[in-house]
Amino acid sequence: MRKPVPIQIGKRFTRLVVLKEQPTHITKSGNKVRKVQVKCDCGIIKEVGLRDLLSNKTQSCGCLHKEIHSKYLDNYRLESGDYRSRLYDCWISMKRRSKSRKDCNVFKGWLSFEVFKKWALDNGYTDQLVLCRNGDKGDYEPNNCRWDTQENNVKERHEKYWTIIKPCGSFVTIKNLSKFCKEHNLSQSNMSSVASGRLSHHKGYKVKKYEN
Ligand SMILES: [Zn+2]
Repeated sequence: MRKPVPIQIGKRFTRLVVLKEQPTHITKSGNKVRKVQVKCDCGIIKEVGLRDLLSNKTQSCGCLHKEIHSKYLDNYRLESGDYRSRLYDCWISMKRRSKSRKDCNVFKGWLSFEVFKKWALDNGYTDQLVLCRNGDKGDYEPNNCRWDTQENNVKERHEKYWTIIKPCGSFVTIKNLSKFCKEHNLSQSNMSSVASGRLSHHKGYKVKKYEN
């Protein structure tokens, strides 16, 4: 049997100082994991695996990683001139919202802030507007998003809207069917029939009705 590694009380490992050995932890597969109690420079006391400590895998309570990560983000923002920009925060919260919702992905290109920023500036972004999905549904992607007032964004969540598939195959989401029909010389009643499934199309147009 190998001699167990002696534990040196008071020994420092980066930000952690060893306080005492803890009862050995037995994993599900029966392996023994020696644990020590450590105190981090930030004041937090916690239990860590001895092996992770000796191998330098664990260097702090977690505060070191957080610091490095936030420095990395800050550097990125500084380099790109977007430090604490509102648009940058919009980008971060868009990605967060997408994660927390079903069937709501972020367009691949927009995972790059530079690409998202260019689209935003080309599409009327101002610090007073919020990023809205048309009909408050679907993915965060150029064809489904716009900058609009917070008021309209809230209103839209309780509204009806229509997705129109044009004869050319492209689609558009609209809120006002009667206006769209007038502009495109279509019969609104025929379009309603398409929406309810009584007609397969009207002049090549297809439409789907949604209610939030
Ligand atoms: Zn810490």
